[in-house]
Amino acid sequence: MTRRWLQEMLYLSLLLITALVAGWFIGHVDRWLFITIAIYLAWYIFNLYRLERWLGHNRGLNIPRNIGIWDDIFNNCYQLRKRERERKWRLVQLLREIRDSTAAMPDGMVILDRVGEIRWLNEAAGRLLHLRVPQDVGQRLANLMRHPDFVPYLNSNRYDEPISLVSPFSRGLYLNLSIVPYGSDQRLLLVRDTTRLHRLEAMRSEFVANASHELRSPLTVMRGYLDAMREDGRLRQMWGKPLDEMHHQTARMTAIVSDLLELSRLETELRQAPYAPIDIAKLVRGIRDEALSLGQGPASILLKVDSDLFLLGAEHEIYSAFSNLVFNAMKYTPVEGSVTVTWARESEGACFTVADTGIGIPATHIPRLTERFYRVDKSRHRDSGGTGLGLAIVKHVLQHHGAILAIDSEPGHGSRFSCRFPQERVSRTADHVGTA
Ligand code: ADP
Repeated sequence: MTRRWLQEMLYLSLLLITALVAGWFIGHVDRWLFITIAIYLAWYIFNLYRLERWLGHNRGLNIPRNIGIWDDIFNNCYQLRKRERERKWRLVQLLREIRDSTAAMPDGMVILDRVGEIRWLNEAAGRLLHLRVPQDVGQRLANLMRHPDFVPYLNSNRYDEPISLVSPFSRGLYLNLSIVPYGSDQRLLLVRDTTRLHRLEAMRSEFVANASHELRSPLTVMRGYLDAMREDGRLRQMWGKPLDEMHHQTARMTAIVSDLLELSRLETELRQAPYAPIDIAKLVRGIRDEALSLGQGPASILLKVDSDLFLLGAEHEIYSAFSNLVFNAMKYTPVEGSVTVTWARESEGACFTVADTGIGIPATHIPRLTERFYRVDKSRHRDSGGTGLGLAIVKHVLQHHGAILAIDSEPGHGSRFSCRFPQERVSRTADHVGTA
């Protein structure tokens, strides 16, 4: 028991003793005791009333003055209230700081709830997505931003990769959107303005495209002269080897220039490939004939192709990607090896696979193979006569078609390049016959 309680007990005992003594001398002890206890109780009820009013109605920190145990009770309540106020104030300060810092951020932030309704957004999000506060808070974002790429992304629940799109509100404004799920079914949408980055990227692509274009004409002239010189018997006798080497190198430069032009075109084209049906069986037979005529690799290519399965896309792009994979397989597989091309339905779409039993690729190089001019081994690259741009082209073509490239390889045993196309890019022959 605390000192205050002992004191309170002492006061009560003194009151009761005084009542007893008074009753003893004057008479009616019971009445004196009753009156004393009634006064004591009334005092308690009065203080309870004051406490209730102070807690319930007084928002300030002024504490009513008191005596005895009630002074302690009021004091403790006062301390609790003070601590609570300080905590609240600190929280408000923190929230204010967070709000100010997010408001100052150049990137947009939108908090969405389980059903995709906007709960909060910062200034940048309002500016980039044309959202208004408070009118749009509580609205479904999918109803306010009806972009053909954004709505499926928002509803997909697969947010590993961000998406890039041209703003539906301002022409020429490029946005990068990523969603981060958190808490219980809440999502944070991050919006970045990537217009500057796009402009720089476009400038770089344009520069490469222009430089490649400018190199084309001198190369054609050089090749023409070289062909003429190689046909001249006297010159051939004297300069045969250097002329062959020069011819070989100009052919390589021509191939690099045309691959660079193809890459620039693929890079600058943001839109998806069209949904025109491509007869893959026919396309693959053409690629096989061309690959065999190169005179590299095995004497035959095994085809396992589902002729009823069509791909919806851009035929020239698909030809470029698939032929790159088949030509690579032939380049990096010895004569006694084998190359198999498969085109088949999968549980979620269809897959085009080129498997070879060639030299293979060490695992450390696989993640970087689709980078421009990436070489596994410089001498191997030079021998093969490749441009180093083939797989970069494959990657871009697949991106245009919503497909992904998977590479499995084991040095000395061979490689497998698989292009996985989503269901919406696949159709059956019967569908075209039906719609024709
Ligand atoms: P390249 O024109 O040099 O073939 P690619 O971009 O097509 O350029 O390929 C990049 C590198 O990947 C090649 O230099 C080669 O080392 C490796 N590569 C590609 N395909 C195969 C394959 N089927 N087997 C072994 N290595 C391969």
